[in-house]
Amino acid sequence: MLNLLLFGPPGSGKGTQSELLAEHYGLEHISTGDLLREEVAKGTELSQDIEALISVGKLVPDHLILDLLFKHINQMDGKKGLILDGFPRTYHQAEELVKEFNARQWPIPLLVALDVEEEELLERLLERGKVSGRSDDHEETIRGRFKVYHEQSEPVIQFFKESHSPMIEIEGVGAIDEVTANLIRGIDQFIKESNN
Ligand code: AMP
Repeated sequence: MLNLLLFGPPGSGKGTQSELLAEHYGLEHISTGDLLREEVAKGTELSQDIEALISVGKLVPDHLILDLLFKHINQMDGKKGLILDGFPRTYHQAEELVKEFNARQWPIPLLVALDVEEEELLERLLERGKVSGRSDDHEETIRGRFKVYHEQSEPVIQFFKESHSPMIEIEGVGAIDEVTANLIRGIDQFIKESNN
């Protein structure tokens, strides 16, 4: 089983690259942002609260995302592995992820950190906002999402370091297929080393 998690700031290409990697390695792609947007679209009791947080670029509470994600994972049948996109986004989510995977005797996901500069990210997200229709792709919210990323999500890297969990960093600038090739090279290297 190969488990990956694509980590990086908003606009770093996590969604696009996760889909491509899922296809390449035959993995199940799970985006927590998509799970939340689906929940909003269902118009459940929680929808308004979730949308209110997403539209200002804040994270939804940990218990809510953990519940949603692991319910989703439990419904899936045996797979070659998972690729998580947008999760974990906090130190606590990372702790819970490791607990849950250990309990299932699944390999801890390889954290693949996409490295892209903030000015490039802002440009990309403003471009995406013209077509995505996402309530959170405009400048004020984007700046807020960067702040949330630094304050709440970067500690995930710290957690992976402290717990000696597997991690690689990949240059995320360039054409989509170039970045995919960089990712595959890094992940294949990791697979090779773990088999030795
Ligand atoms: P994304 O599609 O990954 O950019 O996520 C869009 C928005 O959904 C984020 O800005 C958060 O408001 C929310 N979200 C997605 N994943 C998580 C998560 N793991 N924890 C908390 N909030 C999340």
